[in-house]
Amino acid sequence: MAIVGITETLRPVARTLRDLVFPPACLGCGGLCEESVLRHVCSRCAPMIVRVKKPHCLTCGHPFFGELAGERICPHCEGLRPVYNAAKTVTLFKGPAREYVLELKYRHGFYVLEDMRTLIAENLDILDFLQGAILVPVPLHPRKERERGFNQSRLIAEAFQQAVLGKIAIASLLQRRVDTDSQTSFDRRTRQKRMKNAFAARNQASITANQRYILVDDVFTTGSTLNSCAHALAQAGALNIDVITFAHG
Ligand SMILES: [Zn+2]
Ligand SMILES: [Zn+2]
Repeated sequence: MAIVGITETLRPVARTLRDLVFPPACLGCGGLCEESVLRHVCSRCAPMIVRVKKPHCLTCGHPFFGELAGERICPHCEGLRPVYNAAKTVTLFKGPAREYVLELKYRHGFYVLEDMRTLIAENLDILDFLQGAILVPVPLHPRKERERGFNQSRLIAEAFQQAVLGKIAIASLLQRRVDTDSQTSFDRRTRQKRMKNAFAARNQASITANQRYILVDDVFTTGSTLNSCAHALAQAGALNIDVITFAHG
């Protein structure tokens, strides 16, 4: 315990020394990240990260900016019939937050996970939402995972886990059966159709009906992937399923 304490105390010092020798370049503007809370986004670009707060859409997590009265219809998830309870997102998929995801997913930029963790840890609503849950990363098709070498949703699930100091578990309960590869060339309806039975619980997965599971993905786009995962978990007996993403867009 004492050793952990000392390590934690020295970490900012080590970081400062490292940053003096190799100041990180900002993912937003390319300038130097000096005296920024985030290590890879400078203090000028940091405000461009949209940190999602309440009120937000319960189905996709998109914030309801300034709309406090009247019926809230969310244009971002219209038509999605969720088989999960609620979704939350840490940021919107734009500006530097978008760069974090692209850097991690396509350029092996594992270093961005540190800033993702910082953004998660400063969001008390997200920390509260994570309590008592088991995180279930959205799986990649085995071919895709071999090709990429890692599953970004798993890494992001670990960032969520670290943000609550390891107090929640991660379980890879699902498998992707359909190698859908890039879905981007299809319209929303076709994507939803293709994704419907793309996932299933792993054979050895142990799922407890009243345990709360949170599906984790990097980005909430149409919601069809996450909904399909929720469907697979529900088929395997889960009754209490939520969704969390790092970004929405
Ligand atoms: Zn910048
Ligand atoms: Zn929505």
